Amino acid sequence: MVSRPAVDGEQFRQELRSWLAEHPSPSIAIATTGEEAETLREWQRTLFAGGWVGIHWPEECGGRGASVLEVAIFNEEMARARAADIPGKVGLSLVGPALMAYGNEQQKSQWMPRILNGDDVWCQLFSEPGAGSDLTGLSTRAERHDDVYLVTGQKVWTTYAQFSDTGIALVRTDPDAPKSKGISMLAVPMDAEGVDVRPLRQMTGDSEFNEVFLDEVEVPVENLIGPEHGGWRAASTVLANERGGGFIWKQQVRQEDAVDRLWKTCAGAGLFDDPLVRQRLAQAWIEAELFRLHNARTLARLAQGEELGAESSLVKLFWSETSKRFYETAYDLVGASAADEWTNDFLYSRANTIMGGSSEIQRNIIGERLLGLPR
Ligand SMILES: Cc1cc2nc3c(=O)[nH]c(=O)nc-3n(C[C@H](O)[C@H](O)[C@H](O)COP(=O)(O)OP(=O)(O)OC[C@H]3O[C@@H](n4cnc5c(N)ncnc54)[C@H](O)[C@@H]3O)c2cc1C
Repeated sequence: MVSRPAVDGEQFRQELRSWLAEHPSPSIAIATTGEEAETLREWQRTLFAGGWVGIHWPEECGGRGASVLEVAIFNEEMARARAADIPGKVGLSLVGPALMAYGNEQQKSQWMPRILNGDDVWCQLFSEPGAGSDLTGLSTRAERHDDVYLVTGQKVWTTYAQFSDTGIALVRTDPDAPKSKGISMLAVPMDAEGVDVRPLRQMTGDSEFNEVFLDEVEVPVENLIGPEHGGWRAASTVLANERGGGFIWKQQVRQEDAVDRLWKTCAGAGLFDDPLVRQRLAQAWIEAELFRLHNARTLARLAQGEELGAESSLVKLFWSETSKRFYETAYDLVGASAADEWTNDFLYSRANTIMGGSSEIQRNIIGERLLGLPR
């Protein structure tokens, strides 16, 4: 339905398409059992064997050193093939970049190959009950005793903690320093004594994320990533990469695909006679098209070596708000007749305006850093 201009990188696109045709993805959206998590790990191993994991990582780190255009194409094609997300996303988009910037040689050689091949799945132990948007207020503490840190506190909303081998954690190592100055970044083995993972049931019925309780967990000092008390700088690198690896291109194709499906469902149900239905469908189509154009402009700028900086907040805000609006439309128009098909996506879309920085926080950034409004 949505027409696209021809782009370079066709050879890369064809290579991936052929590979995907020969290696069909499992159809698991979110792993809810150990068995499903293991199937997704196998899927990551298959992708890795084909050279399709961490393509945006530099070659010397085990990636392909793919260009921005290739990363965009990769994500478009994965979404178009409805390929499952791999479980190692946190390792690829957060831990890898943190190690590249702040890890020592031992950490890089020990962890990076295992992040790529799926042997180690990492989770992100950042948010706490009292620290989300303002992470610098975190209170999980780590006290150094000889060659270990003793870590005690609580994390929350930890995606896939129940299936992870290691957690990248922000902990307070200097309680007397100003908030952002006393934080360190640690790699916490999730099978260590004192780690208690409790899955949280979401309104979709799935348990994708968890509470993680840490009770005097012994973490070797060699698991410190970056300088002691200097974890906030490392975290800022990590957070800048949170949407790295082409997340937004995948969402674009998913949104276009969903608009297309809704359009056909409404046509099949004979709903086009109603002008209000036509109006809401047109609005959904326009927003998907605007999202595509927005991304095309972003891609052109990145391809020329420009940095996005605070403008990435615009993209996050636009995607999350329009996707939420779209699923409200879908639920209103066909929810009663085809509830199962749309209910899960409708419910899940409520998370989009929270994860990775809420809409209010994105608006603050846009107001202060792009529009120059007073704080
Ligand atoms: C699907 C999903 C997966 C997630 N996975 C992980 C994970 O794996 N690891 C992890 O560490 N975290 C994870 N999170 C947590 C996520 O990072 C936090 O939910 C997010 O940072 C918001 O923090 P909070 O929930 O504590 O809300 P709060 O920060 O308490 O905010 C509550 C409300 O206040 C608003 N608000 C807060 N501060 C301001 C301000 N200064 N100005 C205006 N409004 C404000 C917010 O917009 C929000 O509406 C996940 C979240 C979701 C939804």
